Amino acid sequence: MIAAEDGQTAQRAAARTPARTPFVVGLTGGIGSGKTTVADLFAARGAHIVDTDAIAHELTAPGGAAIDAIRARFGAGALRADGGLDRDAMRARAFDDPQARAALESILHPLIRAESQRRISVADGPYVMHVVPLLVESGARAGRFDRVLVVDCPVSVQVARVQRRSGLSAERIESILAAQASREQRLAAADDVIDNGGDAAALAAQVDALHRRYAAAR
Ligand code: ATP
Repeated sequence: MIAAEDGQTAQRAAARTPARTPFVVGLTGGIGSGKTTVADLFAARGAHIVDTDAIAHELTAPGGAAIDAIRARFGAGALRADGGLDRDAMRARAFDDPQARAALESILHPLIRAESQRRISVADGPYVMHVVPLLVESGARAGRFDRVLVVDCPVSVQVARVQRRSGLSAERIESILAAQASREQRLAAADDVIDNGGDAAALAAQVDALHRRYAAAR
């Protein structure tokens, strides 16, 4: 009886309290531009990070929510021995076969989107930094972000960083870049820009200034 009354009280309180809508910044940038580096700096200042790549990894890890649909569509050959997605094999397949890429995206994107929304709805911290590498490419802006923040640097710097990190050939990196939005398209979609063409020390002041603005926004 007491529990039921408490439940009703909680329901009435919930009905009076509007759903919390955190201030959401969409963080994007091309491959190797420095999204992760920048997101880490915002996190250190108290931003709540929702990272699309991290969610995609979880969904495709052994036992992840996307695994059954991937097996049904692509067969067990798309999975590693441990039951997780064989990312290298799938990347190669999707790169050569647009239909396979579209099929994989149609499995993953709705799941990523739902999980991102769930994490945003329970986020603490003064605002959410939602890292979406393909934000511009997916045309996903509408209604989802209060601000779009682009991490920008010259293409030559992107290529050098990715090469240093991964050892991929310049040709392979160029082909990945060609499949992404151009620097100009990304900048045209930006409300705010972080210039990551310099050294890492040059980032702190830019991040500080934006963090102050975002934290005061709502
Ligand atoms: P991806 O799109 O591949 O996930 P990203 O945009 O998240 O990459 P990071 O992983 O942050 O980029 O950076 C790419 C590489 O460049 C990393 O090895 C990182 O340490 C390095 N890097 C990032 N910013 C700088 C900088 N200002 N100076 C030197 N190295 C940097």
